[in-house]
Amino acid sequence: MSHSVCVVGSVALDSIQTPTGSADDVLGGSCSYFSVAASFFAPVNMVGVIGSDFPEVERSFMESRGINLEGLEVVDGATFRWTGRYHENMNNRDTLDLQLNVFGEFDPKLPESYRDSDLVFLANIQPGLQTSVLSQLGSYKLVGADTMDHWITESRDDLIDLLKDVDILSINDSEAEQLSGESNVVIAARKILEMGPKSLLIKRGEYGALLFSANDVFAVPAYPLERVIDPTGAGDCFAGGLFGSLAESGEFTGKGLRRAIVHGSVVASFAVEDFGLGRLKTLTRDDIDQRYKAFMALTDFHS
Ligand code: AMP
Repeated sequence: MSHSVCVVGSVALDSIQTPTGSADDVLGGSCSYFSVAASFFAPVNMVGVIGSDFPEVERSFMESRGINLEGLEVVDGATFRWTGRYHENMNNRDTLDLQLNVFGEFDPKLPESYRDSDLVFLANIQPGLQTSVLSQLGSYKLVGADTMDHWITESRDDLIDLLKDVDILSINDSEAEQLSGESNVVIAARKILEMGPKSLLIKRGEYGALLFSANDVFAVPAYPLERVIDPTGAGDCFAGGLFGSLAESGEFTGKGLRRAIVHGSVVASFAVEDFGLGRLKTLTRDDIDQRYKAFMALTDFHS
């Protein structure tokens, strides 16, 4: 039987503009992307907050993925909204508008039934709140965390405190540079591992991802795609695929971890094929397994 994954983070309505088009008020937020991605592999317990305006259709979609929404609090008011515009080079984007709304007062509370989740993922929220979620869990086997530039500068002490309890820290290359003060990714990784996490996943967009641990480095490419429609949430989908796969296999190190990283890259490669969670709404486990095989062919080589 697979383990379950508890995730805390933002649940949002996003408006997104990319060079290929735009979408308004679509389901987004780190917690939503992570949960949907992980749901292809294992049971997911979601912790987040939404306003009374949250569309029923998005709630039903998450339920249809088997995601447990008992910890999704509904508060009078408006749901968190984020508006972003990507540049011609989609590695860069600007935040045009950010309305925290009910997310501004978010105080995560874990339902009793979540307390025996074996895996926990602390998606991008204030590091003090991430720590509070950990302290509400009874016992756990694996802790993952993400963060962003804002918390690295504004809540550095809280973040450094949290890192001591993290097994897998999942960040992108610019966040790794900001956290460590080093532009070389290998030196940055060594310095961040010294801060506490047992493993460090550095996501590098279209260049794939690197997993560093004390004595090992593992590289996974991004799937070569002709058309990227919307990169929003790709990193959260990577983490969701990774943690879902770990929960499914129960193998948290070695080969299980390597397989999970490829699963993360596979789900992220689907996520960018449409706006928001559009592609993941029609995705099947069979599609994931097919592309996993394509990844094996992509990197197969013998000495
Ligand atoms: P990513 O592309 O991985 O950065 O994730 C994008 C998602 O993060 C979007 O769906 C946004 O709704 C969400 N987001 C943007 N800003 C914040 C913030 N300050 N805190 C939490 N989530 C955010």
